[in-house]
Amino acid sequence: MSMGLIENWNCFILCILNVFLCSLSFSAVDFFNQVNILYGTLTEFCTPSNCPTMSAGPKYEYRWADGVQIKKPIEVSAPKYVDYLMDWIETQLDDESLFPQKLGTPFPPNFRDVVKTIFKRLFRVYAHIYHSHFQKIVSLKEEAHLNTCFKHFILFTWVSSHCFVFINVIIIISLLKWLLVRFFPRVLVLMFNRVHAFHGDVWPQTVLQNNMKQSFTLT
Ligand SMILES: [Zn+2]
Repeated sequence: MSMGLIENWNCFILCILNVFLCSLSFSAVDFFNQVNILYGTLTEFCTPSNCPTMSAGPKYEYRWADGVQIKKPIEVSAPKYVDYLMDWIETQLDDESLFPQKLGTPFPPNFRDVVKTIFKRLFRVYAHIYHSHFQKIVSLKEEAHLNTCFKHFILFTWVSSHCFVFINVIIIISLLKWLLVRFFPRVLVLMFNRVHAFHGDVWPQTVLQNNMKQSFTLT
């Protein structure tokens, strides 16, 4: 591969990764807003007395720790947990070193881990709503909206967690496409026994260009 090709390829991979990270960034904001609105309709029902622990059934209890002010996970009521969570997410989203606002600013190396933690904690709010407040959601006629938001959330997190596999597939397909476009003319020439000299294991640019020209003029 020539240096130009390698540079172009690196740019291509960086571009795809950047698009992926941008989609994570926008989606984190969207999902945060959706959960905020959904939970906001339940604040008068999700109280410390009704929900003394942040849980999704007896087997799943969630404790709070932000790693800065509260390093050791503490048991809190569901509304307190959601309060802590929303404040924490808002702080993360407002931190320009984590979520760059200016175009072209690189994402930090730990960006994926931060977004993963945001999504994991937002999932806990969905789990709590479904387990403890679904009947209230039904009575408020919000179940269709809740289900749509949750499906969107689950689908996106599933796709993004497998996104690097998809990116690799795209890269392989693009590489094959590039090879086909670049070397197909030579294959044509080989078929017609009009092969140019092949020097070592590197095809000089001039030979390739000649082959490409001839491949389009074969009769
Ligand atoms: Zn609750």
